[in-house]
Amino acid sequence: MKEQPLVYLYDSTLRDGAQTLDVDFSVDDKRHIESLFDSFGIDFVEGGWPGSNPTDDAFFATPARSTTSKRIAFGMTRKKNVRAEQDPQLQRLKACSADGFCIVGKCWDFHAQHALGVSLEENLRIIADSVAYLKQDNGFVLFDGEHFFDGYRNARDYALRCLDQAQQAGADWLILCDTNGGTLPEDIERVTQDVVQRFGGERIGIHCHNDIDMATACSLAAVRAGARQIQGTFNGLGERCGNANLVSILPTLVYKMGYRTTLHDDALRRLTSISHSIDEIINRPPESHAPFVGRRAFAHKGGLHASAVAKNPTSYEHIDPALIGNQRALLVSNQAGRASIRHRLSLCGIENVTPAHLDAIIAEVKAREYQGYAYDAADASFQLLARTIIDPQPAPFTVHDYLVTSSAAQDAHARVVIDYQGKRMDNEANGNGPVNALDKALRGLLTPLFPSLKELALMDYKVRIMAQHRDTAAKTRVIIDYVDANKQEWATVGVSHNVVAASWQALMDGILWALRT
Ligand SMILES: [Zn+2]
Repeated sequence: MKEQPLVYLYDSTLRDGAQTLDVDFSVDDKRHIESLFDSFGIDFVEGGWPGSNPTDDAFFATPARSTTSKRIAFGMTRKKNVRAEQDPQLQRLKACSADGFCIVGKCWDFHAQHALGVSLEENLRIIADSVAYLKQDNGFVLFDGEHFFDGYRNARDYALRCLDQAQQAGADWLILCDTNGGTLPEDIERVTQDVVQRFGGERIGIHCHNDIDMATACSLAAVRAGARQIQGTFNGLGERCGNANLVSILPTLVYKMGYRTTLHDDALRRLTSISHSIDEIINRPPESHAPFVGRRAFAHKGGLHASAVAKNPTSYEHIDPALIGNQRALLVSNQAGRASIRHRLSLCGIENVTPAHLDAIIAEVKAREYQGYAYDAADASFQLLARTIIDPQPAPFTVHDYLVTSSAAQDAHARVVIDYQGKRMDNEANGNGPVNALDKALRGLLTPLFPSLKELALMDYKVRIMAQHRDTAAKTRVIIDYVDANKQEWATVGVSHNVVAASWQALMDGILWALRT
């Protein structure tokens, strides 16, 4: 692959990404994410919009500790009928801790006249004044041409004049924005080519939104046409359908197109972890089907696929998952062959399985899947099943009985009876719902005996009713996600006609897995 020129990377997670519904960064979140991007080697980190909210003000009140990234403050061109140096918003930009400014201005004649309510000539003066003001004292200025592609379609010459004004006034970068996110990659490429021919490509950037699911393709099309900066967000955060997703763009740009970036050595091997860290900060589960970084991006379920991949990964993988810090997963399913079970066992640290044990495990998995169990999403239950066959151990305790009642008038109430070292013990507890009551009653008995259980937390509880299951009538499958003291996450499964019994199985697997030696 021929080595291609350097492409600069601009992250807008903390500004455009903060527009995502339900995403609300604190000042500490912003600092944390800025330092993640700095350690990754992102050139420009847009921290927010000084003056638009108290969080962004507090963020920009303290200087960045970055060593690689430039901290950028976002803002708008001056208001109409105000001199740039007297526009409070532009003054705030200049006074903040940023290393540079990105200001957005109108490039669509329709928007200038109708949204801004100014003449086309006045809009050009607004752009020129604002850029020139921020350029004073050696300011570093990126000009975001808002609705550039819509403007170009409607009135090409005017859209280009807007860029020209910004360049004449000293803008360091001209960024072409597909603000409505509806432009096709071939149009982005053609228009960018025209701009690059006219202004030179060294300082042209692209900013795409994902409204037709093409923001990655559009950003890369602009680079092909000569743009040398990509603006996007991590995990594609952003309002509506999100912004161009740097997590998909970066490995494609580097590994598949051969462009250079200033990312630190081996940074891309941390891509999966950084992507997941950002999800953790905004408190949402990582998208399991996300390209490159999803838990399922390199998961192989079919027996044929799985055994082919185990022999030669390129047979069903477009890239080595290790290059982006992800890993291959061979899922256990009713299609699973010996190769995928053997591989999955070795991922759990279970090596040297005899053929007889392997056959017994496969038979047990198949039989249980027929009853409705699903081990793809329940790794802890899978390992318990395998260990019970390979190396059965005496149970740390046995359950004599359990009972739970629940009524409209009262909290659920549970009673659990166990045998432990020859002694019969029982405990009762109330809970909000039968599963919570059972969990509390059981842990009330076990935690004094096994103190490590104190750190075990139940994260998620999913119930699925399988309407007409193969072997009988309706069945319930319960999956419980846990996190333990070491921040390890794992899941267990239970299946029964009775939701309480299914939950009990998943709870017991959770306890047994936490107590395994
Ligand atoms: Zn945007």
